[in-house]
Amino acid sequence: MVKCTECEAEIKVPNDSVEGEIVTCPDCGASYELEKSDQGFTIKPAQAVGEDWGQ
Ligand SMILES: [Zn+2]
Repeated sequence: MVKCTECEAEIKVPNDSVEGEIVTCPDCGASYELEKSDQGFTIKPAQAVGEDWGQ
């Protein structure tokens, strides 16, 4: 579980999530990228919007 930095809602992070996965806040819709740390997952704001992730 991580906390949205925009609205402080709790965002569920599945145990089988992987680093780099994008999670979305259920409250405000902000997108975050998962980062793994010793304490578990942390989040950082995801870059931009849209589906233009491919190379
Ligand atoms: Zn939020």
